[in-house]
Amino acid sequence: MKITAADFLTSSPDFETCPESGLQEFAFIGRSNVGKSSLLNLLANRKDLAKVSSTPGATRLINFFVMNKAWMLVDLPGYGYAKVRKESRQEFQKAVSDYLSQREQLRCVFVLIDSRLTPQAIDLDFCDWLAVGGIPFALVFTKTDKSKANKVKSNVALFLEALSERCEGEPRYFQTSTKTGKGRGEVLEFVEQVLKA
Ligand code: GDP
Repeated sequence: MKITAADFLTSSPDFETCPESGLQEFAFIGRSNVGKSSLLNLLANRKDLAKVSSTPGATRLINFFVMNKAWMLVDLPGYGYAKVRKESRQEFQKAVSDYLSQREQLRCVFVLIDSRLTPQAIDLDFCDWLAVGGIPFALVFTKTDKSKANKVKSNVALFLEALSERCEGEPRYFQTSTKTGKGRGEVLEFVEQVLKA
């Protein structure tokens, strides 16, 4: 899929204020610093698409972007922010869990995983939570240019294995690098397939 337009629509602090729209949605989430902003910019072919999301305050909002006037890219607040006050952390985690469990037009959640790391409990727990809730998700292993190919391969295998001990079926997964552009085509092709299905 060629991206011809990527337009910021709005930011929502909670599920109730998410925009009404007939477009199918694809959401992106991961721990802070996993490479989410870089990946969104790569997908959109823009330098600053996700800039709005990383401005202070906006990291706790759900950000909506209309792609090709045909589908919605949704940038979810990251999990695992140690610095955020506990009360406000609970507030935006509620926004995320409400969005994920109640948004009817949500087609797939891309869970970003840092390919340099061995499986982390916080990521596995989150995938487990999605699986239990029947929320469709795919994995995106980020920053694959930063380690040797063998290391990435083994971290991916370890993650899939750890996940298989918790939930049934192997999720779709992608390997990306915003430095080389690796994986961009595959992720967009997958979005296109889901849109057509
Ligand atoms: P976010 O907090 O999840 O939005 O993460 P960012 O997109 O801001 O990325 C965090 C850091 O990792 C930045 O310094 C990025 O330049 C770097 N980064 C992100 N993706 C990649 C990648 O694929 N390859 C390399 N080499 N660096 C990356």
